[in-house]
Amino acid sequence: MGKLLIVGSVAFDTIETPFGKTDKILGGAAPFIGLAASQFNVESAIVSIVGNDFPQEYLDLFTDRNIDISGIEVVKDGKTFFWKGKYHNDLNSRDTLETQLNVLADFNPIVPKSFKDADVLMLGNLNPSVQLSVIDQMEVKPKLIVLDTMNFWMDIALEELMEVIAKVDVITINDEEARQLSGEYSLVKAAEKIHTMGPKYVVIKKGEHGALLFHKGSIFFAPALPLEEVFDPTGAGDTFAGGFSGYIAKTDDYSFDNMKNAVIHGSNLASFNVEKFGSERLQELTKEEVYKRLTQFKSLTQFDIKLT
Ligand code: AMP
Repeated sequence: MGKLLIVGSVAFDTIETPFGKTDKILGGAAPFIGLAASQFNVESAIVSIVGNDFPQEYLDLFTDRNIDISGIEVVKDGKTFFWKGKYHNDLNSRDTLETQLNVLADFNPIVPKSFKDADVLMLGNLNPSVQLSVIDQMEVKPKLIVLDTMNFWMDIALEELMEVIAKVDVITINDEEARQLSGEYSLVKAAEKIHTMGPKYVVIKKGEHGALLFHKGSIFFAPALPLEEVFDPTGAGDTFAGGFSGYIAKTDDYSFDNMKNAVIHGSNLASFNVEKFGSERLQELTKEEVYKRLTQFKSLTQFDIKLT
């Protein structure tokens, strides 16, 4: 069993979907990643920052899941990062209505001593300069560094982002972002180009159409489970990243074949996350439910074709 270090935003979110809206609820990349990874009982820690308006009950939620919170700085008189989003009717696109960086604006991450030798480093969506600082603080080179990022950073901090990309083993991005980063429309060509930037493994997420894993000319495809109802897609990408990195940390196996399993675990957990607002579904999710849906995943893609 390996150790997992997670860096990412911790936030208050206000979300509006065609099905309703929330008050301020727990959001940010790191909680989705941490809660998803906790399904594998890995030893993990979050590096992030919040204000003194952040409820103790949320910190307790992390601790209850065996997530070390000593790397979450609480700023006295500071306000927690706030994000407000509204989804369109098809739930595939959304508008960001408000972003208040608050304490995240001046965040200097500090990696807890006991996690400077983490086996897996999961860089959640955040300013690339913060991600770089965390990489630099590691005393032992992680066996695997996974990066999740988005077009926002490609637009405003491309140079630093490229520096991070050069140092990671796995990058997870969505199809549009892969096209933007590579300048290629074909996802196969896009992945080839992204490989040359650094990552040996490229995961391209296609939302309700699943995810592709590219490595040395090989491609693996994992479907997304067709769901009757998608309620709120917020954090699906982060949950995928948490499932992926959590599973790799648990198994301590860094082979391509095991990455395929990690992609399935990530997709499986993401399929739960979209069923309720924010991380509500992850907070109540049981191992039995996870296992049951994994068997559905298996039968969804299993076929016995005779090749003559
Ligand atoms: P996703 O749906 O995977 O894009 O993730 C949504 C989460 O990202 C929300 O919980 C937000 O709080 C968080 N978020 C939105 N914008 C940013 C940003 N600029 N930096 C860090 N986290 C963000």
